[in-house]
Amino acid sequence: MGGKLKYICPICGFDEFKNAPYDENGNESFEVCHCCGFEFGFDDVHEGHTFESYRAKWIGEGALWFYQPTKPINWDLNLQLGNIEKIQPMYLPCYLRNRNQ
Ligand SMILES: [Zn+2]
Repeated sequence: MGGKLKYICPICGFDEFKNAPYDENGNESFEVCHCCGFEFGFDDVHEGHTFESYRAKWIGEGALWFYQPTKPINWDLNLQLGNIEKIQPMYLPCYLRNRNQ
């Protein structure tokens, strides 16, 4: 172990967040994911997306990297999507926690 703990995007699996997308109280970070462009606390609540619906839309539109300057050279979408299953329920927003229990 060691090193800084990083957080994972529940949409695309991008794992370079310094802040939890949703903290232990379910509060949103309002960060925008560099990869899929999802804004925590905005695209979910105000745009009415679920993680699944946004992910399906994003992949359906070609899974384009949102913020090009940070795109890894050897980016592997499927490898990154595998990160999603490592997310712990405490890092999900309140309204999704009950469902996962
Ligand atoms: Zn993302």
